[in-house]
Amino acid sequence: MTEKLNLFIGGSSVKSTTKNWIEVLNPATQEVLCEAPCATDEEIESAISSAKEAFFSWRETPPPERSRVMMKYQDLLKINQDEIAEILSKENGKTFEDAKGDVWRGIEVVEQAANITPLLMGETVENVAREIDSYSYTQSLGVCLGITPFNFPAMIPLWMFPMAIACGNTFILKPSEQDPMTSNKLAELFTEAGAPPNLLQVIHGGKDQVDQLIRHPDIRAISFVGSVPVGQYIYKTGTEHLKRVQSFAGAKNHMVVMPDANKNKTIDSLVGASVGAAGQRCMAISVAVFVGSSKEWIEDLKKEMEIVKPGPWDSKESGFGPVISAQAKEKITGLIEKGKSEATCLIDGSNCEVEGFPDGNWIGTTLFSGVKTESEIYKTEIFGPVLLCIEVDTLEGAIELVNANPYGNGTSIFTASGRSARKFRHEIEVGQVGINVPIPVPLPFFSFTGWKQSFYGDLHAYGKQAVRFYTETKTVTERWFEEDEESTKNLTINLE
Ligand code: NAD
Repeated sequence: MTEKLNLFIGGSSVKSTTKNWIEVLNPATQEVLCEAPCATDEEIESAISSAKEAFFSWRETPPPERSRVMMKYQDLLKINQDEIAEILSKENGKTFEDAKGDVWRGIEVVEQAANITPLLMGETVENVAREIDSYSYTQSLGVCLGITPFNFPAMIPLWMFPMAIACGNTFILKPSEQDPMTSNKLAELFTEAGAPPNLLQVIHGGKDQVDQLIRHPDIRAISFVGSVPVGQYIYKTGTEHLKRVQSFAGAKNHMVVMPDANKNKTIDSLVGASVGAAGQRCMAISVAVFVGSSKEWIEDLKKEMEIVKPGPWDSKESGFGPVISAQAKEKITGLIEKGKSEATCLIDGSNCEVEGFPDGNWIGTTLFSGVKTESEIYKTEIFGPVLLCIEVDTLEGAIELVNANPYGNGTSIFTASGRSARKFRHEIEVGQVGINVPIPVPLPFFSFTGWKQSFYGDLHAYGKQAVRFYTETKTVTERWFEEDEESTKNLTINLE
């Protein structure tokens, strides 16, 4: 019998009473790993009301005490890193090393949450007017909600609930229905770390469950990560219901290659950043912009890309895994087909086979050159192991091209010139910039900062901005009067 995945309500696993279940498939084999429940209205209501009740005592828990739970939690995540990575690899398809990286980048956020107290400190100014002082506190919000995508089943939930909970809130997590098992493991370990029951609830399901959650009057703040149309929908609906929303969406990231760059390092970085994790990273490089004579390297890039092959998660030979689903494969191969009429296809990964895994969602490395910005393959987020090459004459032309793109998640430049790097860093309209670093995902003491259509909202993930997102600020202005003689006299008389 297929395993039925539980919800996580009240600090423990709870069997859902739903009649609607979603099959979770191993993308390398199509084996059914489990069935995930589409939580019922009552189950969602019960999760939110227990989170709301837990909030009133959790917000009174001193921040250092909350941090201690996070210290224990990061320790348990490290001890269980391999086990989490194995669950993650099976349901998501990414290679074991990549899955361990997914968990590790989440652990780094938990480490930050374990050091929350200084970030919660308020501000003081004495004598804002004579004998009047002002100061501010940060205070917890209430029940917060996280809705996460399939591509980082550990890291992205861990961007959200540890920061929100360390700030004194309680949390409902709705992970992707395509790989929901990792979230249950994260929740179990959180309880094991000593988190009081009801701080974290895991609700499974799809659009219907999200719709109920984002409209619920007791949800104070929503963090979303996923595709552009859904991100826009969550932002619009959440704010319409007067909630605080941060919505991280899709991307089309460019790497600018200058002719003075280190050729081998540039090519190595381009290959890893474009096809690693089967290109299913919001920070993947999907467009290489060759400036001037650097276009001569495209032939060498092709040779290197041809060497990297997809395969199962537990083989050291696998450069990357399958794409998440048969539907995703169909969409990507459709775009590759379209691209053949729009540009030159140097490598076509559409008909990729992996020995022993005839049913996997395999797509091999794919490379296009001579790509035009009007083409479908340029305008669409392909989210597969596909790299597009564009040629321009100057750095100014490259910057103009990147800035004209509607997305602004990540970008990078490879160059030996400090002057070119400085110009690029200063003028580029993208949130995360790499200089000779292909995937510049910031560590959690900074913020993850998409721009333009890659982000809707005003405060970004993790770091100081996340603390501002998950807290309210209360400002007090204070004045104390001296007791005057008359009232002192009255007081004395009264006392007699
Ligand atoms: P998705 O938008 O399909 O799903 C994300 C979440 O939204 C899931 O939990 C899903 O159940 C829910 N959802 C899906 N359709 C919905 C609907 N119509 N109404 C309400 N909820 C809905 O995204 P995905 O395919 O899981 O993830 C890939 C996307 O996420 C890519 O576009 C990628 O660029 C993006 N992403 C962005 C970042 C970032 O930080 N900007 C990070 C990772 C992934």
